[in-house]
Amino acid sequence: MESESLFNEEVEPPGSLTGIIGPEHQTPNSFRPYKKPSHTSLYLAKPDRGVFPFKDSPRAKAFRKRFFPDISRIEWYDWHWQFRNRIRDVDILSQMIELSENEHNALVYHSGKIPLSITPYYASLLTGNDCSRPLRRTVVPVVDECFRMENEEDDPLGEEHDSPVPGIVHRYPDRVLFLVTGLCSTYCRYCTRSRMVGRDGEQGFSSDQWEQALEYISDRPEIRDVLLSGGDPLTLSDEQLEWLLFRLRKIPHVELLRIGTKAPVVMPQRITPALTHMLKRYHPLWMSIHVTHPDELTPEMSQACMRLADAGIPLGSQTVLLTGINDDVETMKQLMQGLLRIRVKPYYLYQCDPIPGSSHFRTSVSKGLEIIQGLRGYTTGYAVPTYVIDAPGGGGKIPLLPEYLVGRDGDDLVLRNYEGQIYRYPDRETPTNSDVH
Ligand code: SF4
Repeated sequence: MESESLFNEEVEPPGSLTGIIGPEHQTPNSFRPYKKPSHTSLYLAKPDRGVFPFKDSPRAKAFRKRFFPDISRIEWYDWHWQFRNRIRDVDILSQMIELSENEHNALVYHSGKIPLSITPYYASLLTGNDCSRPLRRTVVPVVDECFRMENEEDDPLGEEHDSPVPGIVHRYPDRVLFLVTGLCSTYCRYCTRSRMVGRDGEQGFSSDQWEQALEYISDRPEIRDVLLSGGDPLTLSDEQLEWLLFRLRKIPHVELLRIGTKAPVVMPQRITPALTHMLKRYHPLWMSIHVTHPDELTPEMSQACMRLADAGIPLGSQTVLLTGINDDVETMKQLMQGLLRIRVKPYYLYQCDPIPGSSHFRTSVSKGLEIIQGLRGYTTGYAVPTYVIDAPGGGGKIPLLPEYLVGRDGDDLVLRNYEGQIYRYPDRETPTNSDVH
């Protein structure tokens, strides 16, 4: 039977896209936004500039008054302002936090692929002068980034190998990863895609590339699930994102759309009423949110997630296990429980990928297993993510579990529960007459 499109609402098609893909204010002359649909329902939501009703947190207010005294609350809660005013410069950052010698040298002499970029909102979370603070370590470079260890690779997951056309990674049978931009508002120092985000990736995506990727998906009926990632797809304008979602929804065999993003964490202002209003027209649409530490679970992030959840978007989290940042049971438990409170299901806990200069972030696998063991049984099952290694060389995600299966004793499976106690389960394949009482 021919599959029917799940996209059953008539929406006027977006117009054409031309040129390089990026936020309007980054490449003002190279992107022509499409003509808005003539019916108004899509745009009835409040405009996404300035008026998004976030509750002003005392932390944000104090930070704003200190470092951006001329900026109004309305500007602060406008994601365009946050994006335009990303901190990309050692001089500005050093006014906000006292840089260690290590951080200062890394910033001054840095020539690596991932540039410095931190939204003012996220900078407001980097409190104090302690350079070992978890969030600070994830976004402020140190000189360790310059040292490439044996077995570290530019493309550790072999994505280029599984890329039939630019921007598409087709590794698993029924789904593709669609890399739509190389731009992020805030760069993580441990980014798996350091080869393509930041310096090399911010200008590297074009509408021609998107068209090629869409054609690839359209030509393959086996693709039922498309994950938009990058870079961060939520650095695109609403118009650009909708253009993509619209085109994908028109492909009858694409059942599921997903977006991977860190925006609710580093720039929650991005989750505007206009955005959620637009997104909910493209269901089933899921979102994976990259989150690292409980300090990120602010009232602003909570509001952003609630807004997405209220738009009917199922939310999952992705967390990279990072040494000295989140590699202990208590921190991870707080993070996972906090995510459930804001309606985000912990989805994946990743072993850190061996990109160049990542050795100071990577933990042993036994540490990850210890954390899973410390969660399972001790907290809500929904709060336990799947711990995976994305196999170097392109083997895909391989789940890892502590040893709960001790072995077999005759027809019995011998199992260990979360407290270490041993139990047996009768595991005969077919019951015999003598088993029937
Ligand atoms: S948000 Fe994602 S793509 Fe962007 S730098 Fe962080 S890990 Fe990389």
